[in-house]
Order: sequence, then structure tokens, then C-alpha cells
Amino acid sequence: PLGDRSYDISIGNGNLAEVGRWVTSLRKVTHVVLISDGNVAKYYQQPVEDAIAAEGIRVTSLGVPAGEQSKSVPTAQSLWEAALADRVDRKSTVVALGGGVVGDLAGFVAATMTRGLDFFQIPTSLLAQVDSSVGGKVGINLPSAKNIVGAFWQPKGVLIDTAVLKTLPRREYLSGLAEVIKYGVILDADFFAYLEANVQPMLNRDPAVLQKIIARSCELKAQVVAEDETETTGLRAILNYGHTFCHALETVSGYGEYLHGEAVSVGMLCASRLGEKLGVFDAESTQRQAKLLSALELPVATPKLSETAILSAMQRDKKVEHGKLRFIVPHAIGKVVLTPDVPSEMALAAWREGI
Ligand code: NAD
Ligand code: ZN
Repeated sequence: PLGDRSYDISIGNGNLAEVGRWVTSLRKVTHVVLISDGNVAKYYQQPVEDAIAAEGIRVTSLGVPAGEQSKSVPTAQSLWEAALADRVDRKSTVVALGGGVVGDLAGFVAATMTRGLDFFQIPTSLLAQVDSSVGGKVGINLPSAKNIVGAFWQPKGVLIDTAVLKTLPRREYLSGLAEVIKYGVILDADFFAYLEANVQPMLNRDPAVLQKIIARSCELKAQVVAEDETETTGLRAILNYGHTFCHALETVSGYGEYLHGEAVSVGMLCASRLGEKLGVFDAESTQRQAKLLSALELPVATPKLSETAILSAMQRDKKVEHGKLRFIVPHAIGKVVLTPDVPSEMALAAWREGI
């Protein structure tokens, strides 16, 4: 039911302890390298270690500092060396326990150590559960560029426990919801309507609603990825709805000012207004998104920033080809179209009108 992927996504509420049986379900595992960050390890490292050790598996637990800075060559090197020092071999399996930072980093270490180790993900942030743990992209940053060194390395499995979201800081949680809304807009109008009808349970982190929205988000992302696994046909680009504006906002405001999902929220509304200007999207649908995003306490207003800086950041974005701006433009809730050759003045007007 999850597209053509060869691995399983298991979603539950309180299913963390199944990790031991789950890593051995494919083949006998004798050694796990468990990678986590300080914030996550504090709550979940011990139960995960215990569940793995209960299957007779030796565990090497390695910690990295929380935060994007850990997606670096020096951190990857320290993990390669620590794994080697604790007798990693080609039959070892890497388990990533954490948000998108740990998933991308641990996945990269798995892809490269001894030319490739089996890899499982236990995503613990909402963003990681609905986005970064699905799709097989792993990697690290260089000081000059994000996500520039990496691989396509599919996990053997993804274990999602909605109960771990209880300890996720509120702003991080809400930020993850922006990507959930994105899936509704790009692919599934019914799902979007479900989100509109479940604002309060989402704010309360209701397990049943979380299970439903995470499962549907993973399903939708997996479908897109299955049709364009290595980003060759361009279909995967629809996942970048709102992201050209988002990346410009993140760059120009200075990383750290906006969480990623917050910038996605602002960016989706810019892309919607662009759709209105192109005559393919109606103002009422833009308003529906704004209403849902602000009900979930996400920012909807464009901040006042230099338009010159925003334009040059958009021109440096990956989706620019031959100097022309390309956007994922909504045509209706549930349908978006990759639109090349957007005049930069029109894109800036869509940005400006959100102020
Ligand atoms: P993150 O991993 O930094 O996690 C956010 C914060 O929440 C961190 O401080 C973390 O320690 C903490 N945290 C995570 N789970 C927690 C929990 N259950 N309880 C308490 N605290 C918890 O950031 P993120 O938003 O999860 O991921 C962002 C990263 O994901 C970026 O590096 C981005 O490039 C990457 N990403 C990758 C893909 C992909 O396809 N590979 C897609 C989207 C984003
Ligand atoms: Zn995103």
C-alpha cells in the first residue's frame, strides 16, 4: 500500500519497544550502532538499547550534539571512528534515533561505513516522521552548502512511535505540521479537509489523529518518491511546493530565525498568491490554507526583507534553470503544477502582497 518501496513503515502509539524484534525481522543482527542526539537520547536511548539488547544484540550507542551543526564532516568522521573502535563490521546495522538531523547523518554514516551498512530509522520529530525518514536521501552539509554531500540510501525499515512526540518542543511540533498540510495541498484534497476538521486534536497531539496524518503523509511522499526515486523525472519536485520562497526566506532572514516548517508556511501562501496572479488558483483556496496554517499557530505573513536579497536567493535555488524561475504552483487544493518561466516581478509581487 506504500508504493514500490522495499521496506516497511511501522506506525504505532507506544511501539518503541518493538525495535529489537523489528531489526532482526529481516535477518539475524548481532551488532547495532545506535546514533542519537542529546535531547532525544535523554528520553529514549535507554528503552531502545534495552529492547535491542533483549534480542541478544550487542549495542554501540553513539551521541552527537543536537542541531544542524552535527550534519558535518567532522561529526561523520567521529562516528566512523567510534564505530570502528567498537568493532563495526559489514554485518553491523545502524539505527538512527532522532529528528531529521540524526536521520540524515546516521543514514550517511550507514551508506559510507564499510561501503554500506543496513540502516533503520526511528524518527522522533514530526518533520522526520512525515518527511525526512521517507525517500532515502541521506547526507551532511559543508560549511558553504547544505545537504551537498550524501547518497540515496534506503532504510530497511522506519519505526514511528507517535508517543515520542509528547516531548518534542511545541514550536518544533507545529513546524512539522506545515509539511503535513503541504501534502494535502499538493496531492489530496480529502486529506486537506480532514486536517481542517481536526485542528484541535492536532494541537492536542491526539494519538489516533497523529497516526492517521503521519500514515497518510508517509504514503503520499512514498508514492511520489517511488515514481521518481533519484529525482530524474521531475515528479519529485512537487514536494518542493512553497519551498523556493521558503528557502529564500530562510537564507535572507538568517538561519535560525524561522524553523523550516514556519518558512514553508509563509512560502506556501506566496506560491498560492502566485497561482492567483497566473490565473490558475482562486483566492478562496489561498484563504483556506491561511486559515488552517494560522489555526495551527504557524506564521502566515511575509516579513519585511530586502526584495533584492529575496530575488537573488530564489535565483540561486535548485529549481532555477537557465536563469528562469520555476515554481510549484497550485491549481486547486490537491493539485499542483511545475511551472517554468515565471517572471521574477510576478514572484516578488506574490511575496510582497503577503506583508
Ligand atoms: P532536528 O533533528 O534538529 O530536530 C529538531 C529538534 O528537536 C532537535 O533539537 C532535536 O534534538 C529535538 N527532538 C527531536 N525529537 C525529539 C523528541 N521526540 N523529543 C524531544 N526533542 C526532540 O530537526 P528536524 O526538524 O527533525 O529535521 C531537520 C533536518 O532534516 C534538516 O537537516 C533537513 O535538511 C533534514 N531533512 C531531510 C530530508 C530528507 O529527505 N532526507 C527532508 C526534510 C528535511
Ligand atoms: Zn520542507
